[in-house]
Amino acid sequence: FDMFVLAFAERLFRPTFRKDDFVLGKKLGEGAFGVVCKASLANPEAAEKVKANGVMQGDVVVKKATEYGAVEIWMNERVRRACASSCADFLYGFRESKAKGKGAEEYWLIWRFEGEDTLYDLMQSKEFPYNVETKILGDVQDLPKGISRENKIIQTVMRQLLFALDGLHSTGIVHRDIKPQNVIFSEGSRTFKIIDLGAAADLRVGINYIPKEFLLDPRYAAPEQYIMSTQTPSAPSVPVATTLSPVLWQLNLPDRFDIYSLGLIFLQMAFPSLRTDSNLIQFNRQLKRCDYDLEAWRNLVEPRANAELRRGFDIMDLDDGIGWELLTSMVRYKARQRISAKAALAHPYFNREGLLGLSVMQ
Ligand code: ADP
Ligand code: MG
Repeated sequence: FDMFVLAFAERLFRPTFRKDDFVLGKKLGEGAFGVVCKASLANPEAAEKVKANGVMQGDVVVKKATEYGAVEIWMNERVRRACASSCADFLYGFRESKAKGKGAEEYWLIWRFEGEDTLYDLMQSKEFPYNVETKILGDVQDLPKGISRENKIIQTVMRQLLFALDGLHSTGIVHRDIKPQNVIFSEGSRTFKIIDLGAAADLRVGINYIPKEFLLDPRYAAPEQYIMSTQTPSAPSVPVATTLSPVLWQLNLPDRFDIYSLGLIFLQMAFPSLRTDSNLIQFNRQLKRCDYDLEAWRNLVEPRANAELRRGFDIMDLDDGIGWELLTSMVRYKARQRISAKAALAHPYFNREGLLGLSVMQ
């Protein structure tokens, strides 16, 4: 059987939605390619359809997108079938014709409302990472606050994000826009999930595989920019089954683009001073000047580190510097020298039994 036939059949028997099923509420985000709103269900029939789509109750999130929405729907359908737990629960996507004279078609995407907080929101709080600990465990530990406890919390977040990324990469999807704003805390599963597949590429079938550099966020993008070498023949941008050979994947390691971005999130979690936009941009400049060598960056800034920066290094140096070792194997200039998500999950950084038992959470 052709995977597209199966995908079509699966979708055919799921109840469909239309825009009148939703009452749009608070705006959650707005970009060049669409607007995202929280929404409630307009009537009991819509609520029934939501149940039939596997979500029991509650609010949903609606993204009204431009023509790029078509690819995003495709990616979400694929994730739903192949690695559902990696991303926010996707319910349905459909095309809506705009009123006459208003131009192009619009695509609507519907997800379960997973929760109020992105990792970005949580990292902006002075309480971070303790505010995350409360969310994951449901209560506060009575162990003293300090770098060991913070390290355990960061470790748990990293494990969850690597697990989600490994799911995507094993499916053949590269996200290309991994950043704290695109990580949502799911109140239902008490884990972090990835959102926003708007820039993602499915390399097994060649969808969105032509690099769209304008979609990349320069603050988190790896230096190579292009996910595949320019020598690679370009694949069509419509869903036809032109499978990309695993050999090409092995040659280009496009998944390592996401690993670099996640490495920067790891860094921001450990170093409070790098959580602001301006300081992250300054860090990127410094790292570039160090030829993307984190060790060289450390030698540059550590001698005149303030207390906050010092604390970051102290966290990464715990357990004989095993955290720093993982970080430096993620943030590297050459994609092929970066660790994969699967290998990172097996890294000794995650081996030690969590002091708080956080490791049993996933
Ligand atoms: P954009 O293309 O605008 O970046 P996103 O898919 O990243 O679109 O969504 C924008 C914002 O909406 C996110 O940063 C998050 O705050 C919120 N959001 C998106 N999906 C969900 C979801 N499933 N549950 C809760 N909030 C969400
Ligand atoms: Mg986003």
